[in-house]
Amino acid sequence: MDFDTALAEAWIRAIAAAVEKERSRLTELDSAIGDGDHGSNLQRGFAAALTALDGLRPAGPGAVLTKTGTTLISKVGGASGPLYGKAFRAMGAALPEPAGPAAVAEALSAGLDAIRLLGKAEPGDKTIVDAWTPAVAAFRAAAGTGLPAAASAAADAAEQGALDTVPLRARKGRASYLGDRSIGHQDPGATSTALVFRTLADITAS
Ligand code: ADP
Ligand code: MG
Repeated sequence: MDFDTALAEAWIRAIAAAVEKERSRLTELDSAIGDGDHGSNLQRGFAAALTALDGLRPAGPGAVLTKTGTTLISKVGGASGPLYGKAFRAMGAALPEPAGPAAVAEALSAGLDAIRLLGKAEPGDKTIVDAWTPAVAAFRAAAGTGLPAAASAAADAAEQGALDTVPLRARKGRASYLGDRSIGHQDPGATSTALVFRTLADITAS
């Protein structure tokens, strides 16, 4: 299976549906250690991305991800808009057409690099990096077994990475203002990153 235009569009559509469905959970998590807008930020951003994609056809998979990133940057004011926006733009720029699993692994890795370049977060800082990093590693390790298996391994790793943020003390973003009081809560951004990877697994599952 290749990551083609139809799959790229299906991914953005699935992310939009997932953040809509999980909006209140993301908002609750962000209310505990942030300002409670993570769910609505992503819901607004990905809904706008879907609208933007309507005007884009025909387009390759890279163009779909790039357009999504540009839309997230322009529509989402919070920290997560530019971070996810840069990630999707970097993935779009890195993606050949058509893209096999190894090329998708490189694109996901480019997305993580963009997040780290902008946000300067290290693994363990209790951010989206803590879900994205193990997801890229798991995807890369399983790429030889095909896109569905790699995406499934990445989703499992992202979910574990999100769970593993609970005992961490936030060192970046709004949650860092809480210091030790951020300990004991799951990071909202790592949680939404787990959704991003789970949707990729869902749409590629055979
Ligand atoms: P804001 O914090 O501006 O309200 P959101 O609520 O939409 O934005 O997003 C918060 C999430 O953004 C956090 O849970 C965290 O995962 C992520 N985040 C914040 N700052 C950074 C950073 N510097 N690097 C990576 N991720 C970050
Ligand atoms: Mg917030």
